[in-house]
Amino acid sequence: MSERIKTPRGTFDVLGEAALARAELEKTAKAILERAGYERIETPTFEATALFARGVGESTDVVQKEMYSFDDGGGSSITLRPEGTAPVCRAYLEHGMHKLAQPVKLWYLGAFFRAERPQHGRYRQFWQVGAEAIGSDDPAVDAESIVLLAEILEALKVQARLRVSSLGTPGTRAEYKTELQAYLRAHEHDLSGEVRERIDLNPLRAFDADHAGTRQVMENAPRLLDRLTDEDREHFETVRALLDGAGLAYEVDPALVRGLDYYTRTVFEFTSDALGAQSGVGGGGRYDGLIEQIGGPHTPGMGWAAGVERMLLAAPPAPTAPPPLDLYVAYAKPEHRAAAFRLAADARRAGHAAQLELGGRSLKGQLKRANSAGARYVAILGDEGTALKDMESGEQQVIEPDTVMHHITHGT
Ligand code: AMP
Repeated sequence: MSERIKTPRGTFDVLGEAALARAELEKTAKAILERAGYERIETPTFEATALFARGVGESTDVVQKEMYSFDDGGGSSITLRPEGTAPVCRAYLEHGMHKLAQPVKLWYLGAFFRAERPQHGRYRQFWQVGAEAIGSDDPAVDAESIVLLAEILEALKVQARLRVSSLGTPGTRAEYKTELQAYLRAHEHDLSGEVRERIDLNPLRAFDADHAGTRQVMENAPRLLDRLTDEDREHFETVRALLDGAGLAYEVDPALVRGLDYYTRTVFEFTSDALGAQSGVGGGGRYDGLIEQIGGPHTPGMGWAAGVERMLLAAPPAPTAPPPLDLYVAYAKPEHRAAAFRLAADARRAGHAAQLELGGRSLKGQLKRANSAGARYVAILGDEGTALKDMESGEQQVIEPDTVMHHITHGT
């Protein structure tokens, strides 16, 4: 035998109970988002590499070291999507959605890819559910977007802590970045090597560090929240007032930074203690500059993404019931197979869940199988005609073959 081939590192199969739990999660997210007017969007699994390089930002970890990029066979670089916001913004532009009533509200669920070091809750292919509202800078868009993710997490019984902050506008951020860089350089000796190396490229990441010395330095570091313009501060205060009004508990975390470059103004994150090191369940924020970055006119936007695996890991196990089975079609001899085949197909066409014996079992084995599959009725086709067994009462009666559907529909 040749060597068995396994799933690549950081990937996994979804089956059985896990598949049922995912289907439930999708149903929950869809119901909550579509009730708020979000429409489903599907974008391709790969995009032009430039979309992420320009959209997500050249200096981010995602673009620098986590993208699966390759030649499309014709000399252009394409990338397996590492996130969903830039693709949705590209689609907004490509389909002229600025002509629709604004904001355009879209949601998605799909697979994303990042070449990360795999660990519990961190994979190379993972799924995200996400929601984007594009075309309005109203703070109510921010608050509603956050409330919708909170609602999904609540429906899934995921206990998560919400942190919010504001990153202001790019101008404020640029000035702040210079101030922070000067501060970091003044304390260079106490910082971790990694943070020191990134002072030029991405000083904000210093707030994320686990290194004790760096953390101590960051306690007294200047905070972006204290440098916001009046307009940005007012926007943030309105978002907060709306969240307060909605009764949503949160914490303002001035050190909240997100891994992607496109955020402006509001940012937020839900974390769960049930997850260990990879505690982020979902998060997002406003990205008023992103559409311009990818070649469109200035267009505000706000959205989030939440990890499907993380939500399922953080949620208490929900009892999942296998789908019901109305009819199992058993048959005694090979010559009854064609009639059995037809009966199962007819039953399905009539809207019943019906399965045909496909394993070549003995009649006894077929009845056992029907029982373990949870069949409500079993039709047994044999030389003496068709018998219908009610699996609840155990009663069996011989019936006219063309009345099977009548019997299972009306329960007689
Ligand atoms: P991000 O786009 O990095 O803000 O990620 C949004 C959410 O996606 C995170 O909060 C996680 O729940 C999930 N996520 C991100 N990266 C991974 C990964 N490598 N494996 C599993 N889930 C992930």
